Amino acid sequence: MPSSALSARPATAINNLRLLIAGDWLEGRGSRLSVVSPSTGEVVAEGASAAPDQVGDAVEAAQKAFRPYADVPLWERAGLCHAVAAALLRRRDEVARDLAVEQGKPFAEAVVEVTVAAEMFQAAGEDVKRITGEVLPSSDPTRQIFVVREPIGVVGVITPWNFPTTIPAEYLSACLAAGNTVVWKPASYTPVSALHLAECFAEAGVPAGVLNVVLGPGVTVGEILATHPSVVALGVTGSSPTGEAIARMAGAKRLLLELGGNGPAIVAEDADLTRAIPRLALGCFANAGQICDSTERILVHERLHDAVVDGLVEAARQVRLDASLAEGATMGPLNNEDTAAKVDRHLADARANGARVLVGGGRATDRPTPLYYQPTVVDGVRAEMLLNREETFGPVAPVMTFKTDEEAVALANDTELGLVAGVFTKDIARANFYARSLRAGIVNVNETPTYWQPHTPFGGYAGTRSGLGRLGGKYTIMELTQTKTVVVDVAP
Ligand code: NDP
Repeated sequence: MPSSALSARPATAINNLRLLIAGDWLEGRGSRLSVVSPSTGEVVAEGASAAPDQVGDAVEAAQKAFRPYADVPLWERAGLCHAVAAALLRRRDEVARDLAVEQGKPFAEAVVEVTVAAEMFQAAGEDVKRITGEVLPSSDPTRQIFVVREPIGVVGVITPWNFPTTIPAEYLSACLAAGNTVVWKPASYTPVSALHLAECFAEAGVPAGVLNVVLGPGVTVGEILATHPSVVALGVTGSSPTGEAIARMAGAKRLLLELGGNGPAIVAEDADLTRAIPRLALGCFANAGQICDSTERILVHERLHDAVVDGLVEAARQVRLDASLAEGATMGPLNNEDTAAKVDRHLADARANGARVLVGGGRATDRPTPLYYQPTVVDGVRAEMLLNREETFGPVAPVMTFKTDEEAVALANDTELGLVAGVFTKDIARANFYARSLRAGIVNVNETPTYWQPHTPFGGYAGTRSGLGRLGGKYTIMELTQTKTVVVDVAP
């Protein structure tokens, strides 16, 4: 293994944002960055973004590190994955606290997030040992044909703020395991979580240049990264417009795009409501609704309408909306004003078109920032409303009714997005009908659309705007490696 490892010196003295390039923690030379906690309104971190030449330096460092790192024996790379996981678990509470402060989610949810991120590194360290090639039959007995998988090179990773540790961990763990090197541009709202994860790479002894972190705006730093000729692949999680813009810029680079969702949850005529209602509420309100696989729309058979609505209103009343570090908080503020403004817009549109807000419906006015959004249930939502048509990304449960399963499928599929879907039913034939009919990368039966395990393939349905390729355990490694055919003349 190359001997020069990253310095384990702390870089995130929380108000001192740095870049990580070729193993060195550097001051950015670009525009000023400052992170404001959505929970308290305080500035919690400051620094400067990467100047264009620093993005170039980061790519160059990753390119230089690539060949030596690809040659590190696979079992050693797997060991590095386990070492990053161990470093993350050692500092779990510190990372979770800073994550909660800059992202806004309750500390308890942040602890789960950091733990899951560590599990992703552990899993990648094991999955990579089981990625196999093939020996193909040969038409000529003197030629043997092997199909092997190889790392691909420098991967540009661009990630959002809603899960600032787990989403990056999905890409970074696969790259570390597979032998790729990375230049990572985290979301501008959550750079502290990013630097914590980078420090774990340092602590684990990952060679310099294998992970490089460049902070800064997507439209400058992100675009330079996405278009850099030495970046051979891009792993991007973000909104559909962003992903599509990057795809246009990236040309023929390998793309793994995880984009927006508008997950429908269908409550069929025979659903078990004791199971459905708490799961629907969790799907709508977890992470204040800022999840790509949130339950964005609830489609209820008309016979069950009143019971479902009453149950959701009660569940919304049980939510404890509070600061991310407040004891007992079950929902924190939204992360940023753009997100809150979008929720305002969707609710205004619903009200103007005759929907009824049964509980919540706006921002809490007695908090340190205007980003605390009340858990909201809206009844009488119709197909043409923004709540149905677009991803809302807030703590809103919009309820629509249907009469037949065919009508429910038509409503559910009437969207540009196709990431996830859920259906509640006791009837196996009906479950099968929905599983086959819904245009979504995941269909959960008797679960919310939000249910997910880190190793399951996750991504957008073909033909929708939810992305390209699949993240999740070995599927990520497959996306970020390439097939090579080796033919050997074995004639005597
Ligand atoms: P954005 O699309 O705004 O940003 C995502 C990332 O892309 C950020 O790092 C951002 O930088 C960067 N970026 C923005 N514009 C460009 C550009 N032109 N070129 C290169 N990079 C760019 O998404 P959000 O951060 O607001 O995240 C929310 C969205 O992400 C939602 O739509 C959600 O559904 C989706 N998402 C999808 C998931 C999935 O697995 N399918 C999972 C989680 C979220 P900067 O921060 O500086 O703006």
